[in-house]
Amino acid sequence: MSSTTADASTTGTTVITNIASLVTNDPSLGDGSPLGLIRDAAVVIDGDRIAWTGESREAPATDNRIDAAGRAVIPGFVDSHSHLVFAGDRTQEFNARMSGRAYSAGGIRTTVAATRAASDEELERNLTRYLDEALRQGTTTLETKSGYGLTVEDEARALRIASAHTDEVTYLGAHIVSPDHADDPAGYVALVTGEMLDACAPYARWIDVFCEKGAFDGDQARAILTAGRAKGLHPRVHANQLTYGPGVRLAVELDAASADHCTHLTDADVDALASGATVATLLPGAEFSTRAQWPDARRLLDAGVTVALSTDCNPGSSFTSSVPFCIALAVRDMGMTPDEAVWSATAGGARALRRTDVGRLTPGAYADLALLDAPSHVHLAYRPGVPLVRRVWRRGVRVV
Ligand SMILES: [Zn+2]
Repeated sequence: MSSTTADASTTGTTVITNIASLVTNDPSLGDGSPLGLIRDAAVVIDGDRIAWTGESREAPATDNRIDAAGRAVIPGFVDSHSHLVFAGDRTQEFNARMSGRAYSAGGIRTTVAATRAASDEELERNLTRYLDEALRQGTTTLETKSGYGLTVEDEARALRIASAHTDEVTYLGAHIVSPDHADDPAGYVALVTGEMLDACAPYARWIDVFCEKGAFDGDQARAILTAGRAKGLHPRVHANQLTYGPGVRLAVELDAASADHCTHLTDADVDALASGATVATLLPGAEFSTRAQWPDARRLLDAGVTVALSTDCNPGSSFTSSVPFCIALAVRDMGMTPDEAVWSATAGGARALRRTDVGRLTPGAYADLALLDAPSHVHLAYRPGVPLVRRVWRRGVRVV
């Protein structure tokens, strides 16, 4: 890196120039592909926004200049699915699963107990630790959920803490039936759609439900999402992860922004996704960490479905905050091309959050971008496990 550096003290406009390849996600730019790839490119930042993108030699004059020295620049990742308000970890459970040993601890219930016992400060420290970890790996927009409190007070607390750190907050009181209501699931649904919803709605943008055998069935999920919508929350759904089921079709029917997991899909599910605005968010960290069957991204893409890629970062089934890792898995095992995977982890994530101001590097969008220590975005899959994110700007401020 040479010349000046756009950090918190930089004023005026800044150009990042000598970019070997720039992913804009604007197909009207550059090579005309969905990535809108521009070779020998420059990008101009003005305040918290992108002011200009194009070829280096056409860049306008600016106050500051950064030389990318032939590296690639991409939009910051938009991780539209995580569960980061929690305490404790589940190392022993993971170790047993990966070692082929039986393990009878309580799964999500273990995290619920630890989260309830934690102080506000401990939960917040944990959350900011993982947000920082994600930022260092290029994630500039991150959604996160409640779901490890499962009481009115603990769910509202989780969302209050999350909302201090991200705009994309999801109420997931319907993660599992609370252990306190093990014999009365209907009573728990009444709580989730009643008093708990009232306490949580002020802190959340989204409502989510784990629609799965052993969690909530289609009728319960419909009641939960409909109640949330009446309080101004927009639906998203944990759907078709472990088995076939009604989650995906319910998501499309209710115009959910996203159906997440989408691992077990019938042709009717794929057709439904292709017909609506609901994004299929694939979370390969979960399949990796549970040695489960991969979702078939190729089938969805070939049917015309919009696909997002996210981490599902959580202490039980996918304890990674690395979007580049998920990109590598999606390319290696889910039939995605490197271009598709990078699009899905940036523009796709933005679609899954119904955002047009992130996930793209076009004038007016937020100046959220990552400089890779590589000449091309393809290296994110080509060089798995290598920390290629060298610099990160969020809202025009260099944060990494
Ligand atoms: Zn999840």
